[in-house]
Amino acid sequence: MKEYDIAVIGGGPAGMMAAIAAGKTSKVILLEKNPDLGSKLLLTGGGRCNITNNKPIKKLLNSFDNKNFLKHSFFTLTNEKLLSIFEDRGLGFIEEDDNRIFPDTEKSSDVLKVLKDCLDDVVISYNYEVKSIRDNFIINDEIKADRIIIATGGVTYPQTGCSPNNYFLTSQPITDIKYGLVPLITKKDLSDIAGITLYDVTVGYKKIKVKGNVLISHVGLTGPGIINLSNEISKDLSYDILESKEVEFDERIAIDLCPDFTHDELKEKFTKDFQDKGKTMVKNYLKMFLTNSFIDFFLGEINLGGETQLSRINKKSKNRLIENLKSFPFEVVSFNDRLAKVTIGGVDLSNINPKTMESTSIPNLYFAGEILDLHGPTGGYNLKIAFSTGYLAGLSACEKRF
Ligand SMILES: Cc1cc2nc3c(=O)[nH]c(=O)nc-3n(C[C@H](O)[C@H](O)[C@H](O)COP(=O)(O)OP(=O)(O)OC[C@H]3O[C@@H](n4cnc5c(N)ncnc54)[C@H](O)[C@@H]3O)c2cc1C
Repeated sequence: MKEYDIAVIGGGPAGMMAAIAAGKTSKVILLEKNPDLGSKLLLTGGGRCNITNNKPIKKLLNSFDNKNFLKHSFFTLTNEKLLSIFEDRGLGFIEEDDNRIFPDTEKSSDVLKVLKDCLDDVVISYNYEVKSIRDNFIINDEIKADRIIIATGGVTYPQTGCSPNNYFLTSQPITDIKYGLVPLITKKDLSDIAGITLYDVTVGYKKIKVKGNVLISHVGLTGPGIINLSNEISKDLSYDILESKEVEFDERIAIDLCPDFTHDELKEKFTKDFQDKGKTMVKNYLKMFLTNSFIDFFLGEINLGGETQLSRINKKSKNRLIENLKSFPFEVVSFNDRLAKVTIGGVDLSNINPKTMESTSIPNLYFAGEILDLHGPTGGYNLKIAFSTGYLAGLSACEKRF
């Protein structure tokens, strides 16, 4: 039997960071099921790795449902500290819109390379799938560890190594497991207008509003506005992937195509313009508000001929135009789950000490990353969770010596 102070299960960003933090002072083994570390990390940010988000820490925390749980880990591994790990090894960073941080080489493989370089003090076992953890912390009947950190991720993108089986390794209560940051499939076939982007719109579901671009795909809607909204829809629906992977529903979302105008401002503008520009065809007039390639579809949906002159549009049709510009509806019927970026739900946080990431029911068992019931919006927030909770779990586990 091989013996270690700490065994870290899962070589994603959370597990690697935990092993880095613990490896300096403890005898650590990192167990990874795949032939290499960080398979999901390589896919992040479209291969560019949106490594974190640079909003001021209080604002950043407000972006999460579980900000109180995350607070300690975010203050323990601040963005400055996280980025300095890479900068000290020659990798710089750039900041893009919405405070998103990327490596200046724009390659997630460079982020992975630095993390691997930092793992010098750690024994790494590749192609090693943990299938059992016995009560006395014996893993697969062959490795014994004083402390264990479980960082096996969520369930989405199973090709990167994630599996629902890992929840059964945790011996912890698990909340409902759901898809997060996931494109939506619409009832209507949108393939004719696939590829169109609606820029800077506001997407609404019930009372929730989310700002961002919307991209029309062959099967429905995606883009940051939609995938952030998908978290709200997913949380609102009652389902659990561990019971059934197929999720069907019939919900309505609405896109505010003119978020810069209030309803009344738009009405006022229409009244004036319909008088001043009476001879203008409606399809030309709408260019002021809509992406050109979306106008025909929009007019078709509200049954208005594009060549109708503004002066010939009656009050009812004018109101219909305004209503739809402010609230253009789509019926959504399922998630494009193959492309879900994160998992909502996981190990129940009420049994985890947020100051250490240790289980309150099983001493010396720690958790980090997406296996926990933690998720954030798109924009570097999910890697922020993985790195911060991983670092805190690693530090706490090695500070707790026998
Ligand atoms: C396409 C895509 C793009 C994304 N882009 C971004 C982005 O730009 N910014 C951002 O913040 N977030 C992004 N995310 C989310 C982010 O990648 C995850 O939140 C993050 O990787 C979670 O880290 P983790 O270490 O907890 O889990 P993972 O990265 O999933 O790592 C878990 C590791 O554990 C291993 N493992 C699993 N089970 C076992 C077992 N039983 N035994 C041994 N090993 C095991 C797996 O093989 C895997 O290597 C993206 C996700 C996807 C899918």
